[in-house]
Amino acid sequence: MRVKTYGCEVLKKIAEPVSEMTPEIESFIDDLVHTMYETEGVGIAAPQVGLSKRIFACDPQYSETKVKKPIICINPEFIKYDGERISEEGCLSIPDVFEKVKRFEKVEMQYRDLKWNLITIEADDVFATILQHELDHLNGVSFVDKLTPIRKMALGFKLNRIAARSSKMKEGIEIINKDDS
Ligand code: ZN
Repeated sequence: MRVKTYGCEVLKKIAEPVSEMTPEIESFIDDLVHTMYETEGVGIAAPQVGLSKRIFACDPQYSETKVKKPIICINPEFIKYDGERISEEGCLSIPDVFEKVKRFEKVEMQYRDLKWNLITIEADDVFATILQHELDHLNGVSFVDKLTPIRKMALGFKLNRIAARSSKMKEGIEIINKDDS
């Protein structure tokens, strides 16, 4: 699947909750995970490939272990957060932009897995940052939106260039549109 870039409307929308697991959603998730590894992302959210649903995938260990252990989070919600952590982030949807972002250091998150079990996980450090970055995508927020206005303004040229390219891309998908190219 093609990754939507900064400026695309679907990245600014609040994504819809998933009401139940369906074969379509399952197959969408397969493609999403495939796209994550193919693009060498540590995480990817459904809106990034044009589906405005509350789903993201991540694999915080993969870049070190090279063993694929995707974590699929459906309808994720933070139930606790604590501390502060500043680290450099990038995003598949904002190529070649890396900036320091302030996040919570620890989070506790609840979500549904592929079998619709309600899972609670605790995460800290890099993993916590990834979860916050991905969950933001489900609320129409990109990491550059967390920067100070001055920092964001300094990136203006780069961001405008990405947005100009994005406006030429086809918008959104209903559920799965494989030849969205
Ligand atoms: Zn991102």
